[in-house]
Amino acid sequence: MAVKTDIQIAREAVKQPIQDVGARLGIGAGDMLPYGHDKAKISQSFISSLRDRPDGKLILVTAINPTPAGEGKTTTTVGLGDGLNRIGKRAAICIREASLGPNFGMKGGAAGGGHAQVVPMEDMNLHFTGDFHAITSAHNLLAAMIDNHIYWGNALDIDLRRIVWRRVLDMNDRALRDVATSLGGVANGFPRQTGFDITVASEVMAILCLARDLKDLERRLGDMIVAYTRDKRPVCCRDLKADGAMTVLLKDAMQPNLVQTLENNPAFVHGGPFANIAHGCNSVIATTTALKIADYVVTEAGFGADLGAEKFLNIKCRKAGLAPSAVVLVATVRAMKMNGGVAKGDLGAENVAAVQDGCPNLGRHIGNLQGFGVPVIVAINHFSGDTEAEVKAVKDYVARQGTEAVLCRHWADGGAGIEELAHKVVALADSGQADFKVLYPDDMPLLDKIETIARRIYHADGVDADDRIRSQLAEWQEHGYGHLPICVAKTQYSFTTDPTRRGAPTGHRLPVREVRLSAGAGFVVAICGEIMTMPGLPRNPASETIRLDSEGQIEGLF
Ligand code: ADP
Ligand code: MG
Repeated sequence: MAVKTDIQIAREAVKQPIQDVGARLGIGAGDMLPYGHDKAKISQSFISSLRDRPDGKLILVTAINPTPAGEGKTTTTVGLGDGLNRIGKRAAICIREASLGPNFGMKGGAAGGGHAQVVPMEDMNLHFTGDFHAITSAHNLLAAMIDNHIYWGNALDIDLRRIVWRRVLDMNDRALRDVATSLGGVANGFPRQTGFDITVASEVMAILCLARDLKDLERRLGDMIVAYTRDKRPVCCRDLKADGAMTVLLKDAMQPNLVQTLENNPAFVHGGPFANIAHGCNSVIATTTALKIADYVVTEAGFGADLGAEKFLNIKCRKAGLAPSAVVLVATVRAMKMNGGVAKGDLGAENVAAVQDGCPNLGRHIGNLQGFGVPVIVAINHFSGDTEAEVKAVKDYVARQGTEAVLCRHWADGGAGIEELAHKVVALADSGQADFKVLYPDDMPLLDKIETIARRIYHADGVDADDRIRSQLAEWQEHGYGHLPICVAKTQYSFTTDPTRRGAPTGHRLPVREVRLSAGAGFVVAICGEIMTMPGLPRNPASETIRLDSEGQIEGLF
């Protein structure tokens, strides 16, 4: 029998009314704002009413460095949520929303895969509940107010050459990376060069995902630096009086979205910051809400553990006062083989030696995560071609690192395929072993924080940063931004800045090319390598084959 595609499986799902899904977590119908029959936002008043409740246990799903072989973090997050519910636990999952742009570029949705998916996946991968549209509007309102301020006399003395606030769109469109605005004469303002980023790269997105409530959101929006004056003083969003109206545009988007898995278990899907120039995980408000109403909350961090989990722990957990009870590290036999030097085309053949050669990548992530004081368990996401001997090689390697790897078949079998991991995660989370600590204290100087990440997480010999970068960091330090955590932007494919260096390399250095201050989100971005904030479409974009069939169902999206 042919293997069903993700969308075929998703279409066969028997969904429950979203009110029933919410009711199982004690959310009354009046506290849900339904968007159709299968999606709802959770009301601010309900969230406020939870304040004094104890928290459930937080479980982070992360992975080895990604390879083109695919790892399946979202699939495993969804599967584990179903597995936990199946063994009788009150569990919810928390994942990011999907960006519209990439869906029309490269194939691949963001709702999990196989029999471990969130539904309605079509909605989730398209307009969903409009959050990204609201973020786009709020971001561009500020952009319009900057140009308008200049048009009407520029009382703040903004230097036209030093406006750092660009515009955004949720679309992959390379034509907009660099643009000239206000052409066409006096009535259209002062011409200047600017550009567009994709919405998920907006600082507004990062702020929505880190804010605790609407007050905190407004304060952070006000803190954003949008430009500099001619004498190089920063101009903030608050100086332009845009923070209030932006908060109004974002008030509904701040409410977490509730949907369900294929097995009708609750899934919060909210926020979607980039994992390079931002921190790459779902919203704080969704996670903290889920923790108040579920006993176990499974959440995902983007990219590999060196970037995604590091930022989840050092940025999100630090800021929100969260502490994970256990970490699930996703690995696949195929990815181990690629780390061991096998080409993508040769993954089909059994190769135990290559699996063994690739395992040090896994081992380094285990050690790094244990360094945060959290217990780690490895999930081997089973692919149909994996052989018993290869699986055993991974298990044996992990056992020698003093932890355990569990084979999981959630992609093929849903929650039933991941019960063993679910039991073990519960035991780990309940064991009280976790003693979470961030990697560096707030008061460590900014450059030393970068150095700490480079040495402790990437196992580099040190950081290379020229005088320009050092003096910029020193200046921020002086202006009261020294307490902020670091958000590294680098390739996800390697511990180094060279995407081709797989495994567990040593002897490398971390070159910092540029630093940026996200004063509202509250982190300093260290750019190490090329980063793209406005993607382009490939030669044959997925949008060429996306259409409605004769029954009005979407084809070609996934
Ligand atoms: P990540 O979150 O790590 O980026 P996803 O969970 O989104 O990865 O999975 C990426 C793709 O791989 C999805 O299309 C999913 O259907 C597929 N996939 C995941 N696990 C398996 C598996 N065990 N077998 C086959 N395909 C899988
Ligand atoms: Mg994912």
